Amino acid sequence: MAQCKLCLQDRELKRSHIVPEFMYLGIYDKTPRRFYEMKNSGKEIKSRIEQKGKREYLLCEECESKLSKYEKYADENLYGKNQNGKAALIKQSMTSDGRTFLYEFERFEYHSMKLFLDSLLWRLLVSKSFPTPEYSPDLKEKLRLSIYDEIPLEENENPCLIQSVMTASGKILKGFILSPIEKKVTNEQF
Ligand SMILES: [Zn+2]
Repeated sequence: MAQCKLCLQDRELKRSHIVPEFMYLGIYDKTPRRFYEMKNSGKEIKSRIEQKGKREYLLCEECESKLSKYEKYADENLYGKNQNGKAALIKQSMTSDGRTFLYEFERFEYHSMKLFLDSLLWRLLVSKSFPTPEYSPDLKEKLRLSIYDEIPLEENENPCLIQSVMTASGKILKGFILSPIEKKVTNEQF
């Protein structure tokens, strides 16, 4: 028994995914099924073979199933699983240099998508497997309560952005997960 990070109850914990398994599907080699994790310390780059996405004892069964609803929604609407997604592309535009595209969708369900994105961020912040910038305990608690109560934060609270990285016009860079990059912002930059 240990404390579940979401409901804070003493429960038997599951080995929870930090980043959902469906987000790893594009980075696995097919045979053998594996991917490479690379760490850049600034002095050297180390690589390691992994066979599964990172997991930690974070959540009880009840909280896992609470989050799995939103993972399913994201898998269907972002990755097109089972063709159950309802979101549809209605407009796309490109900057004159051809480097940035903006896609506009309709029928995204704000409630499910925001809770999914915030739960992903929250899991990254409360787990130990990924180096993340140091967010305040207040922000972590705000995220926890919103996810636990299943009441999404407002759009301007902790706004989220989904971005594809393009290497050339029409070429989306695939097959990687990039750890968050911490940027130190000094007062002079404002
Ligand atoms: Zn729990």
